[in-house]
Amino acid sequence: MGNGNGGSKDPILVVGGGIGGLAAALRLSRSGHEIVVLEKAEQFVEIGAGLQLAPNATRVLGSLGLMDKIRDVGVFPNRLRLKTALTDENLTHLDLGKGFIERYGAPYVVMHRNDLLSILLQGCTERPSIELLPGKEIKDVLDGPDGVTAVCADGTTYRGRALIGADGLWSTVRKKLSDDVPVNSGYVSYRGTVPTDRATAHAPLDEVVAWIGPGLHYVQYPLRSGNLYNQVAVFRSDQYLQGKQDWGNSQELEEKLSVTCDHIRTAMPLLGRDHRWPMYDREPIDRWNLGRITLLGDAAHPMLQYLAQGACQAIEDAEAIGVAFDREPKNVVEALTMYQSARTVRTARVQRNARLWGDMWHIDGAGRLMRDELFKMRDPDDHSHIEWLYGKRDPLEVKP
Ligand SMILES: Cc1cc2nc3c(=O)[nH]c(=O)nc-3n(C[C@H](O)[C@H](O)[C@H](O)COP(=O)(O)OP(=O)(O)OC[C@H]3O[C@@H](n4cnc5c(N)ncnc54)[C@H](O)[C@@H]3O)c2cc1C
Repeated sequence: MGNGNGGSKDPILVVGGGIGGLAAALRLSRSGHEIVVLEKAEQFVEIGAGLQLAPNATRVLGSLGLMDKIRDVGVFPNRLRLKTALTDENLTHLDLGKGFIERYGAPYVVMHRNDLLSILLQGCTERPSIELLPGKEIKDVLDGPDGVTAVCADGTTYRGRALIGADGLWSTVRKKLSDDVPVNSGYVSYRGTVPTDRATAHAPLDEVVAWIGPGLHYVQYPLRSGNLYNQVAVFRSDQYLQGKQDWGNSQELEEKLSVTCDHIRTAMPLLGRDHRWPMYDREPIDRWNLGRITLLGDAAHPMLQYLAQGACQAIEDAEAIGVAFDREPKNVVEALTMYQSARTVRTARVQRNARLWGDMWHIDGAGRLMRDELFKMRDPDDHSHIEWLYGKRDPLEVKP
């Protein structure tokens, strides 16, 4: 057995250059580590549309020195609002203004996901200690006594003293340590952006609004200083339950959302239809390390999007793994164990809550009526349900 440190001059390998992988590369490089990022795509790019970033993530992005750049392209909404999808009635809201920012020490930001990736990429490019290698699909990872080896589809191999699998929902690295599979929720999502002046119906431009209804919801918010408008539609597919191949197609989207209020139906014609995202998560697992190999982001804890926390948790992971290496610089295995102990507990709570939140949004019948009444009674200053998620914490605290 080695001393758990591998060849101490070997780099840390990061498999996957999405938001999680690049955030981890940047954080670890700032602590003095050499990093190699192996990304299967030929370019570092994000598809999809907007991303909500809560203060638990923007605090980390601030500490990475990225907030000025985020300010240039992001939008800082004043309110998160919930409305009913069937009747467009206000249910409740959360103020995101001065008091919120003071409370959590960072703002709530909405931005285009590719803008965030570009900012992270630029941060990585500026650091000589990070080597970015696109076009490198990892086929296998091997843990040995003195280090870890990543084997690429093109036959090349890379050696490191640790390896972080940040390769997303369908992670290849995860297969080395778990035989579980993603869970299909039967829900599908459509999303896209339009220039704000072309949007056929939009909410106030300082708000993130979610219209919630039986088996469906619709979200709108501005991006890029308000010039671009983001829309997301989500619904439970009956065709999925019936085992149909082409489930969740755009015809089903039209049918499911035909019962919604005027605002949504007016907004829908410009909703992107060219791509749809079936929505998966996984059951939480309590171990995701194998010697010097660990997981991060969706590879470790993919979650349904209802808390808007998947990328936020990947960014929290990046901070936690950086702090773990700071506290245990000489022993890789020990550092990864600290990281795993803290993050498995925390992210399991977020994964479970994301499912619950979805159930609450999509409920029908008496449950829906009760939910609506309870939301209407809620004090907008009540933070008791989000303090655990957005509040400041020690990144390695073993507490949900
Ligand atoms: C509709 C929707 C809305 C969402 N909204 C929000 C939101 O508002 N806020 C939020 O915080 N989160 C949100 N999320 C979740 C968020 O998008 C993800 O959690 C986040 O992007 C995960 O980042 P990641 O880097 O872990 O994984 P990914 O973004 O999946 O990146 C993985 C990377 O690994 C690469 N890769 C894969 N396999 C290999 C391989 N074998 N070798 C090398 N490279 C490989 C991929 O090409 C990719 O670049 C949403 C998700 C959905 C579906």
